[in-house]
Amino acid sequence: MRDATLGSISSYELRLTFLKFKARVLTMVDSLEGYSYGALEQMLSSAGVNPVHAKPLFSAVQRRLVSKDLSAAEGILPPVARWLSTGNAPVLCPSKQTDCRPSGDGFTEKYMLRLADGAEVEAVRMGFSGRFTACLSTQVGCAMGCVFCATGQMGFSRHLTAGEIVSQAHHVERGLRESHGERLRNIVMMGMGEPLHNFEPVMEALGIITDNRGLNIGPARVAISTVGHIPGILKLARHPKRYSLAVSLHGASDEERGKLIPVNKKWPLADLIDACREYTEIKRARVFFAWTLIGGVNDSADHAFRLAELLKGIDAHVNLIPLNATEGYGGEATDETNVRKFQDIIQASGLPSTVRQRRGIDVAAGCGQLKASRLIKR
Ligand code: SAH
Ligand code: SF4
Repeated sequence: MRDATLGSISSYELRLTFLKFKARVLTMVDSLEGYSYGALEQMLSSAGVNPVHAKPLFSAVQRRLVSKDLSAAEGILPPVARWLSTGNAPVLCPSKQTDCRPSGDGFTEKYMLRLADGAEVEAVRMGFSGRFTACLSTQVGCAMGCVFCATGQMGFSRHLTAGEIVSQAHHVERGLRESHGERLRNIVMMGMGEPLHNFEPVMEALGIITDNRGLNIGPARVAISTVGHIPGILKLARHPKRYSLAVSLHGASDEERGKLIPVNKKWPLADLIDACREYTEIKRARVFFAWTLIGGVNDSADHAFRLAELLKGIDAHVNLIPLNATEGYGGEATDETNVRKFQDIIQASGLPSTVRQRRGIDVAAGCGQLKASRLIKR
């Protein structure tokens, strides 16, 4: 009896220790890829190692993309190698690819990447020689619930850490160096998740990716796409770096937009447009508005006139994207003729626009679609 009680206490304690450890892993300790130059300096310093060693360490991780045997990497001197082997230092956690699908047109390659806890996210390489872009995920799933989006249909699991976001960029860049001998030029935060709902880790990751001692991708070549997360837009407007902002609109009235994007109720259109205006004024930069064209839903001439009216007086550019059909939503893409008609109307009202095809549809390259198709097959 006594033994049994003791046994249950110790297993309870064991469980508590495990939960504390798990919480520590999930909330505090990131992989080495998620440490900025400054954070490395601080960490070395507090471990009693001269912070000058941050330079070769950052270069090995963020520029040369060393993914194993870091202690033996070029420029890593014994004090750092010793610290790395103490068990107190963060470790490298390169993305593990579980699927890779090149599209028929050669424009897109989509990767399914497994994270340390077994969760999976997507990263995509798009473009052609000299203009390669990586599309990165910021969350496992998404809490925003947009009805047409495969990620929204999955629901929210968790935020990604800065290291998990940086590791996706490393994965795409490594592949490019091997296959094409080239470097990434642009980053778009348009994969799974809402980047501004995971603000700090996303900013931390982008600070690392744009660091000229690392991948050195200019902030102007980084686009952050948001569902219209107003507090995030206002924080981004005051952030020291000038990233490009894309706002997913898809509707020109609260009623219509709310049917596609449920969080429109929390962040209604008038407030969203005010936040965008504030962004353009503070950053002196134009905002890109995405309009996913859905046949019979938001693609009429009337919608085009109302969109032009809504964005009047704002430094705006509209990206028109025919819907990529998903399992959980019955809508269809607008046909080419109606896409042109829609574009002609907004163009005539002085609103600049581009029609963007969602390339690589054959590799399920829409947001969250590869993961969704794998879940359905299981
Ligand atoms: N959460 C952010 C970024 C990820 S989604 C956002 O919503 O902006 C990136 C873009 O893909 C958004 O403009 C989104 O509306 C669009 N998108 C999602 N699913 C789509 C689909 N099935 N067809 C066309 N565009 C889609
Ligand atoms: Fe989330 Fe963006 Fe998909 Fe909406 S479109 S559910 S915000 S990932």
